[in-house]
Amino acid sequence: MGSGKGRGLSSVFVVCPRCNNKGRLIEKRTPHNIYYYVYHSRNKLCYVGAGRYEYVSKLHDFELRGAHDSKRYIDYLEFIVEILGEALREDSKNRDEIVKSLVEAYINITELLIELSKELDSDIASRIARALERVRARCIRYELS
Ligand SMILES: [Zn+2]
Repeated sequence: MGSGKGRGLSSVFVVCPRCNNKGRLIEKRTPHNIYYYVYHSRNKLCYVGAGRYEYVSKLHDFELRGAHDSKRYIDYLEFIVEILGEALREDSKNRDEIVKSLVEAYINITELLIELSKELDSDIASRIARALERVRARCIRYELS
């Protein structure tokens, strides 16, 4: 990987998304991107992704990121909700199909939150309960129940 210029061993230990072993996260910077690796030993280095996937992202309405970024799915979810919201307002042709998929995703997320709330600390569990109660109240208000 060259002389070490543009990269460094970080003190951040991570579980490698490629091999599931622990290692240090390394950044290798180039003029156009940042590449991430997990350093396990002198003989083992796993490539785990880039900072940006410009070429692939051109085919999507949001930017994809590498496996080193454990929060990327939450960001993708927020983008997807926004994109689907726009699609529902603009595209009446596929509206029923999109709404059906959204309802299924919502049910799955809700079931996951209920399941997790049993394991999480009481503050987060009560936040989940309040959020679900707000949704329920809105359903009643809009006569969706
Ligand atoms: Zn690895």
